[in-house]
Amino acid sequence: KLAAGEYGAEQPGRVVAHFGRTLEVQDAERTPVRCHLRANLEGMVTGDWVIWRAGQDGSGVVVARTERESVLTRPDARGQLKPVAANIDQILIVFATEPSPHANLIDRYLVAAETTGIAPVLILNKVDLLPEGDGELGELLARYQALGYPVVRTTTATEAGLATLREQLTGQTSVFVGQSGVGKSSLIDRLLPQETLRIGALSEESRKGTHTTTTARLYTLYDTEADHENGVNGELIDSPGIREFGLTHLDEETVTDGFIEFRPYLGHCRFRDCRHINEPGCALLNAVEAGKIHPQRFDSYRRILASLDTDR
Ligand code: GDP
Ligand code: ZN
Repeated sequence: KLAAGEYGAEQPGRVVAHFGRTLEVQDAERTPVRCHLRANLEGMVTGDWVIWRAGQDGSGVVVARTERESVLTRPDARGQLKPVAANIDQILIVFATEPSPHANLIDRYLVAAETTGIAPVLILNKVDLLPEGDGELGELLARYQALGYPVVRTTTATEAGLATLREQLTGQTSVFVGQSGVGKSSLIDRLLPQETLRIGALSEESRKGTHTTTTARLYTLYDTEADHENGVNGELIDSPGIREFGLTHLDEETVTDGFIEFRPYLGHCRFRDCRHINEPGCALLNAVEAGKIHPQRFDSYRRILASLDTDR
């Protein structure tokens, strides 16, 4: 038993949510502990691994943060990039037959993912609506698979679709991104036990009126009751801001480098400042001509560049 002002031994934990300097941390057994942040420490984000010490009344104090392996950022009101979640292993880019996918939008997400160093995975949802042989989507999928991006097919209409998804999530910390209407909420609802969602909703509730903006929350995914007892099979970080990840703040260099199959050609153009649009002696344009780069991806590249010009 701890005396007043006394703290327990240092132990590892992970930030599940944060409300200003109050953190919800889960310990090694994934039990939640309410912690405050030691005065000399900077703000933490959801997904951070931390060192904390138990206090007297069941709450704790966070005394250090482990170095982040990856971080997702969002621009704040003044356009400055702020971290919103950390230590994410994979970005699941969800698309579906309905609303019909824009290759350009998928490329935008892929480019944004490439700049974070977090592995992108394409999730084709609503496969129950796909025609035999995949129709037009078949070609799109083949193109991304040829580039080395994994494609996982899911549907919330059957358990089989969810089993495939759970396999992809196992042992990883994941985020879902993608256009509205592709089925992100439906997938998350089916993955998380209702109890988990309810607890999440409760702590959102308890925070109302504190004028904090909505922050991301980390959820632990269980497969079956048995898995729940034997250990866990993955974590999911979600928030409205994260779902929109990739739709803002790309710069030109990031875009060029984010198309992974362009990389071998970069630095081989006649002009050092080549933008790869219509310059003579452009190595990228030559690669498109030679059939080494898919014209659709190159078209996407040009459209994204053009959108940056109008953003400015
Ligand atoms: P979100 O905006 O990405 O979160 O998408 P929602 O989860 O709200 O889903 C949008 C619509 O698609 C809803 O009407 C869902 O019922 C439907 N939907 C989601 N998943 C599937 C699926 O696998 N198959 C079919 N047919 N409909 C789905
Ligand atoms: Zn060029």
